[in-house]
Amino acid sequence: MTGKTHLTLGILIGIVFSSFFANLSIYQYLLIILITAGSSLLPDVDTDSSFIQYKVRGWGRPALTQWFINYKNRKTLLGTLFYIVLSFIELIIRAILIAAFGIVAKLVVHRSVTHYLLSLLLIFILLVTISLYGKINIIYSVFFFIGYLSHILGDMLTRSGVKIFFPMSKRNFHLLPVKYRLRTGVVVSKEEYLIIGIGLLITTTLVIFNLARFKLI
Ligand SMILES: [Zn+2]
Repeated sequence: MTGKTHLTLGILIGIVFSSFFANLSIYQYLLIILITAGSSLLPDVDTDSSFIQYKVRGWGRPALTQWFINYKNRKTLLGTLFYIVLSFIELIIRAILIAAFGIVAKLVVHRSVTHYLLSLLLIFILLVTISLYGKINIIYSVFFFIGYLSHILGDMLTRSGVKIFFPMSKRNFHLLPVKYRLRTGVVVSKEEYLIIGIGLLITTTLVIFNLARFKLI
């Protein structure tokens, strides 16, 4: 299963589950999708060749800042000033992420500690504790959990499986019978295109439903 498939599943899950919450504002809704998208990629920080590592390393320039402050705005003094400050912040954050992800990739064996249910539960408890102390809505931690879990379950569809119950069991667990398991690798397989296709279809339907809900269409 590739990073793109994980990301599709993460975004899809964010959209599907957030649709059950009637009182979300549009910002909360967007933030939730951003969280599930990020957390669905996070377990693969344990490998240099993952989508998330590639994306973080791959930004040659302050891509987010450039997107936020376009070329035209940079011609004004205020725009240039904002651009300098924001790109500085972005590059610092990126440098920290590259260093942190690099260390994790070196120290951690692929599909080990970042793919254990126990690790996810510990991260979740930490996030809930931070949320309670910081008076942040707990819903974000729940969606982080869901997005992250979608990655682990996604990897369990593949041939190599996941040691999800480590250290209780050292076995690789799978969700599918041997015949139907997906290949692991960089290339998106036919089955994954099918998952992505169905995912995009459901996503589009729900996005339209949600746009109507927020009275944007
Ligand atoms: Zn993985």
